[in-house]
Order: sequence, then structure tokens, then C-alpha cells
Amino acid sequence: VRHDGPSLATDGVTVAFGGFKALTDVSLAVTPGAVHGLIGPNGAGKTTLVNVLTGFQAPTRGAVTLNGRDVGALSAHELRRAGVARTFQAGRLFSGLDVLDNLAVTGVGLGHTRRAAETEAFRLLDWMGVPHLAERPAAGLPYTDERRVGIARALMFAPAFLLLDEPAAGMSEAEAADLAALIVRVAADLNTGVLLIEHNVGLVLSVSHHIYVLDAGQVIEEGDRDVIVASKPVRDAYFGADQEA
Ligand code: ADP
Repeated sequence: VRHDGPSLATDGVTVAFGGFKALTDVSLAVTPGAVHGLIGPNGAGKTTLVNVLTGFQAPTRGAVTLNGRDVGALSAHELRRAGVARTFQAGRLFSGLDVLDNLAVTGVGLGHTRRAAETEAFRLLDWMGVPHLAERPAAGLPYTDERRVGIARALMFAPAFLLLDEPAAGMSEAEAADLAALIVRVAADLNTGVLLIEHNVGLVLSVSHHIYVLDAGQVIEEGDRDVIVASKPVRDAYFGADQEA
């Protein structure tokens, strides 16, 4: 796959753990200003792919590129500095700090003054519609708020690309709908390239411009919502090849 213009991409990536291939020859691209979905059954390799795209896992073969430059050897820290941020399934917030400080710490780590970091943190919470969370202790936050703060913290890096790992896990349908609206705004208003990894396939289909389906470490389908919904390989992967509906 060749990509002109900005993208976070893999080209023929294989990841082997011993003799077992978690990913085989995976090529995909995330582009600015759009939401990309990544779905697939348990064990398909979604988390491994996120780890490869964020520098937590080196590919065994193939390339990871950021705006055309090979970044396969960069650490997670270096990739984040280069504009690739992620959220984690568990919030990973500093439990002893309030929400604003959780975000401000990230800004200070990037070299901003304390005051500038706090201003930016508050601006972000306000943009997300949760300014009231600023002084709340991170410990004991309701689950959905913790998720939102996790996304806010990732956005403190002003990333060109943002990878969301199961952000809707444990949410009600109404909460997931709020999250979906936020994800759309992150892509549309901030021009961020978003990769959304989710078990909630309905959520992925509703917000993604382009969707990749992984099964047993391989991309078995990609395309827009209509392509995915109509795909026999996708149906087979989810429901079993011998169970025709
Ligand atoms: P998903 O996120 O789609 O559920 P994963 O990427 O977590 O899938 O896992 C894909 C496959 O790779 C699974 O069979 C898993 O057991 C295996 N796997 C993942 N990480 C490792 C590892 N560090 N060592 C060995 N096997 C792994």
C-alpha cells in the first residue's frame, strides 16, 4: 500500500511471538481528520496492532510509517513526541491528583510552564463539555468520566494521530453515544486521525469513515460501513462459516 500525504500506517507488518503469528502481513493507514475503525473477534490481533502503531511492540517484519518515515524502531515515548497518542483500557490516571493536575502534569512534561499547562488542560476539559471535572480527585471518578479524562490526557499531546483502545467498554448505550459524538469531534474539529478499537461494532460502524476487520492476525476486510455490513468474510469471522443466517 502506498500513501501520499500524512498518515500513520503499517506496510506488510508481521508480529511473531515464538512460532505464533499474532499479525500476518497487515497493511493499514490512518489519515488526518477521519475516524478509522478496527474490529475483529477476540484474539484477532487488535491490541497487538495498536501496540505496533504506538511503539510498544516492534514488528517482526514489515514497516510502520509516520508521514512516510519509517518509525518501526522508535520507542513509545519517541512516537508520542512525534504525534502518536493512545488511551489505555484502564485509565492509568494518577490517583493522588485531581483531574486538572492529571492533565497539567502531561503539559509540564512536554515543557510547558505550570500555568500554561493548567490553562490548556482547562480549555480541553471545557471543549469536551466536562469543565466541572477539573477539581475532582482522579481516584473514584465514575467509569465514563475516567475514560473521558483518559482521552483528554491523550489530547494534551495535541496528537496528529490518536488510538483509542476499547473506549466504550462498560458503557451504557447512552454513554457510548456521547462518546461517539466526542470521537467525531476529535477527528473533525481537531483534524486528528483516529483509530478506534472497539468490541461495540455498532459504535464503530456509526462513526468510522473506514473500517478494518482483523481475524486470526490478518485483515480480512476493509471499507466503509456498507462494505463491512455486506461482507461474507466478516459474517463468517463473527458467527462462524457454517452458521448462515
Ligand atoms: P485482540 O486484541 O484482538 O483480542 P491480541 O492482539 O490481544 O488480540 O492477541 C492476538 C493473539 O496474540 C492472541 O492469540 C494472543 O494470545 C497472542 N499474544 C498477544 N500478545 C502476546 C505475547 N506478548 N506473547 C504471546 N502471545 C501473545
